[in-house]
Formats: sequence, structure tokens, C-alpha cells
Amino acid sequence: MTATSSYAYEPILERIAEEIERTPGRGRPADYIPALAACDPRRFGMAVAELDGTVYGVGDWRQPFSTQSITKVFTLALDLAREGDELWEHVGREPSGNPFNSLVQLEYENGRPRNPFINAGALVVTDRLMTRTGDAAGELLTFLREESGNASLDFDKEVAASETANGDRNAALAHFMASYGNIDNDVPALLDQYFRQCSVEASCADLALATGFLARHGIRADGSRLLTRSQAKQVNAVMLTCGTYDAAGDFAYRVGLPGKSGVGGGIIAVVPGRCTLCVWSPGLDERGNSVAGVAALDRFTTLTGLSVF
Ligand code: GLN
Repeated sequence: MTATSSYAYEPILERIAEEIERTPGRGRPADYIPALAACDPRRFGMAVAELDGTVYGVGDWRQPFSTQSITKVFTLALDLAREGDELWEHVGREPSGNPFNSLVQLEYENGRPRNPFINAGALVVTDRLMTRTGDAAGELLTFLREESGNASLDFDKEVAASETANGDRNAALAHFMASYGNIDNDVPALLDQYFRQCSVEASCADLALATGFLARHGIRADGSRLLTRSQAKQVNAVMLTCGTYDAAGDFAYRVGLPGKSGVGGGIIAVVPGRCTLCVWSPGLDERGNSVAGVAALDRFTTLTGLSVF
């Protein structure tokens, strides 16, 4: 198979879904808010989008789910496109080795979070995007709608309200960073934006398409450029090293692709220059990554030989 020929993705996706169906042990849905705890861990969907927007899928690939931390990739890209390298003065790009909602490193590092994909870092990115656009969550939603071609994508108000009601830890992170001068906006207003951001509902098909700009080296679905080629590489690199929290090393080892997970059970992944993937299954492992999702991506790169390595 040459580098430019297309894979027959459908039989590969069918095979993965059958293997996942036979695999016992799916982990447990996130239980910090009721809306996520109610998800059936046996649900599974997977989609592959080619660079031209052709999408293939299997299982629950058109079922909307709670995107959660997957949105951190898009807010990072949207902010980086606006402010460029200045962003990195406010958030680092090193793996944290700590859970996604950890506070521990912030004090040693003067309120500058390790990377944009742990909650502390994502709060900084959303804060900066909010300063630049007035409405970071709205900016995100518009982008996701345009890239996926799905104008009905929306926030889930119940999830956003639940996040707010259970938001003490994120509030602590934001206030702590504000004490170091690393948050510009009022913390309650920032948290409102961040929780709405986390609450976006989208399907595997929507998210595989919306991630396409990272496989097209920064080019959006309409052919316009969001990121420079170098910035697209940078976002992919941060996904590879930090996208699955304190399991990023294991994810790189098993899957070999830049990826980003969310506690809703979704994971997006990028094969630069080739395709994007999104997989969803709500059962999580102890680090907050979808058990069947990681397994399915592992099988995908093994069966196809596609990876960044
Ligand atoms: N809304 C979640 C939180 O901020 C998102 C976390 C995640 O998906 N890892 O706690």
C-alpha cells in the first residue's frame, strides 16, 4: 500500500467493534456529575474522517455524547491562532504526571500550569480566549459547528449546571492561579465559560471532522488556514505528550498517535496528513480515559500500521 492510497476503513472498524464487543471490563463512567454517571459503559462508537471530509463509522458513531476535556484541543488551537507564542508564557507544555484536576504543581510553578490539557492549563487558555473574543465557549461552539458541518451542535445545559454545582476543585484552581496574576477575567465568569465549554455534546462523526485541521496541518474544512503548519505540529505534539493526562506515556506506547480524551468517554486522535479519529465508550479507567476507546485506537493503529512512528 502506498502512502497516498486509501485504506478500506469500514472492515477495519467492523472488526474492532466486534473485538470490543467480546472484551469484558469496560471501566466505569465518570460519577462526579449525575448526567455522566447514567451512561451505559457498553456503548461504543468509532469514526474515521479522511482529509476531504469523508467519514466512516461503526456502532454509536452518530450518538452525541459529552465532549468534556476533548474541547481543550479546540480552545488551545483557537487561542494559539490569535495570540501565538505569548500563550506559552502563561501555560507550559510538559506532561504533568498528575491527575487532570491536580493542584499540586501549581504552587511550585508560580501559578503557571504544566500544560493546556490538564484542567488548570485549560482554564488559563479559556481565560485568554475569553479576553480576546468575549465569549470563549461561543467561539468554540461556532468552530465545532463549522468544522463538523453540524449546525445543531450545542451545549448541554444540564451538564453545565451540574459542573457548576460540583465545581469546587476547578474554582480552587482558577482562584489559585488568579492569585498569581495568571487569570485575567473574574473567576465566576471564567468558570461559567469553562463549564459550558465542557458541556458541548457532539458525536464521533462530528469530532472526527472537527479535528481535521490538525491532520491537514492547520487548514480548516473550508480551505482557510487556522494554524500555521508549525503550530499544528505543536498542538499535535502537546496532544501526544499530555493529551491523556498521567497515562500519556502508555497511550503513546499503545496507540502511537496524538490524542485527547475527555471524562465523557470520548477520545480524538490524529494521523497527520492522513485522517482523524474519534472513539466513544463511557467506561473509564482510573486515570479518566475510556477503556474501550484506548483499546480500539490501539487496535486501529496495529491493524492499519498507521501511527506517527
Ligand atoms: N468537566 C471536567 C472537569 O473540569 C472535564 C475533565 C475531563 O474531561 N478530564 O473536571
